[in-house]
Amino acid sequence: MLYVVGFGSGARDCMTAAAEQALLKSDLIIGYKTYTALMKPYFPEKQFLENGMRQETERVRLALGSAQTQTVSLICSGDPELYGMAALAYEYLAEYPGAEIEIVPGITAAFSGGAVLGAPLTHDTAIISLSDLLTSPEKIERRLRSAAEGDFVIVLYNPSSKQRADYLQKACDIVLRHRSPETVCGYVKNIGRKGEYAHICNLSELRNEQADMLTTVYIGNSETRIIAGKMVTPRGYRHG
Ligand code: SAH
Repeated sequence: MLYVVGFGSGARDCMTAAAEQALLKSDLIIGYKTYTALMKPYFPEKQFLENGMRQETERVRLALGSAQTQTVSLICSGDPELYGMAALAYEYLAEYPGAEIEIVPGITAAFSGGAVLGAPLTHDTAIISLSDLLTSPEKIERRLRSAAEGDFVIVLYNPSSKQRADYLQKACDIVLRHRSPETVCGYVKNIGRKGEYAHICNLSELRNEQADMLTTVYIGNSETRIIAGKMVTPRGYRHG
């Protein structure tokens, strides 16, 4: 059996009971090295196997191969579907007779970070990754444009990296064509981990902020506002 497990932000109490059970049932826990380093202290008696970034295919194949004879967990941060390994495991499944897959959902960064900022995700939301490793820059731009035009709250994952230092700025410029510079925005770094940091600002200020790879960025819709110092997108109950 292969469990593809989302462990949430990394905080012990952000993990679901089902995720914890899957890890406890597993003979082997496989993951990207940052993730195994986070889980080892919580499950010191377990056997772990890790590898590096961009070795996703090898990792999934190793997990499926091991799952033919053992119970294995392949761990992802947040949720295992969203920019995670769940689909890739299904894509290779047929090559590993005897292996079965169960997806164990987790709290994705959008929601664990949303709770830190306030309640920004109470209405229709578009989640967009700015990473162009697997998606063309043209497609990312089109999705940003459409989400901005549709007045969706926008959550940006993978907002920046060393090679893409100006991507957040470019994304804000696209959204600014459809939304006021005063739009309430925010970001959270290191959600549920050491050095957690949250900041609320407006869209023109967000344009000049520095995000890193462990940052999740929130751009409010036209209704989003600051209430009690928090970023809040009203659902409309008070006017309904
Ligand atoms: N499967 C993960 C997302 C993986 S993509 C999930 O569901 O959360 C990696 C991106 O997720 C990062 O670049 C960042 O934008 C976001 N992210 C993941 N964990 C985070 C954390 N602890 N703090 C802030 N952002 C995080």
